[in-house]
Amino acid sequence: MTDCIFCKIASGAIPSKKIYEDDEVIAFHDIHPIAPVHFLIVPKLHVAGLSDCAPEHGQLLGKLLLLAPRLAAEQGLDGFRTMINTGRSGGQEVFHLHIHVFGGGVSLPKV
Ligand code: 5GP
Ligand code: ZN
Repeated sequence: MTDCIFCKIASGAIPSKKIYEDDEVIAFHDIHPIAPVHFLIVPKLHVAGLSDCAPEHGQLLGKLLLLAPRLAAEQGLDGFRTMINTGRSGGQEVFHLHIHVFGGGVSLPKV
């Protein structure tokens, strides 16, 4: 059994507030939300981060991204922000690829 927290969530070994699941992907609310709605879209395949992706991951990456607007709409968001922290200096703390999606009732700072 891997020590990876998101692998454990993907396998159901650790509970999460799940909003979507299929054979390749799971999405669940972030445990420390930074906006009224804040969820994570996570591949079940363990890939440490975006820098570890190769062309063979292209289809999966596309699927993760395409889920963002669909799940955001289901969560009641009419707009949202996506974020992929990559590497320690990129703010990544969990080294299993994930897309943050957040929004709702706040005006996000311009970046
Ligand atoms: P990162 O900084 O790696 O991009 O983001 C990791 C995110 O995962 C953080 O926003 C953190 O709050 C969230 N997180 C860490 N552990 C857990 C957990 O056990 N359950 C859930 N739902 N979120 C988690
Ligand atoms: Zn993992």
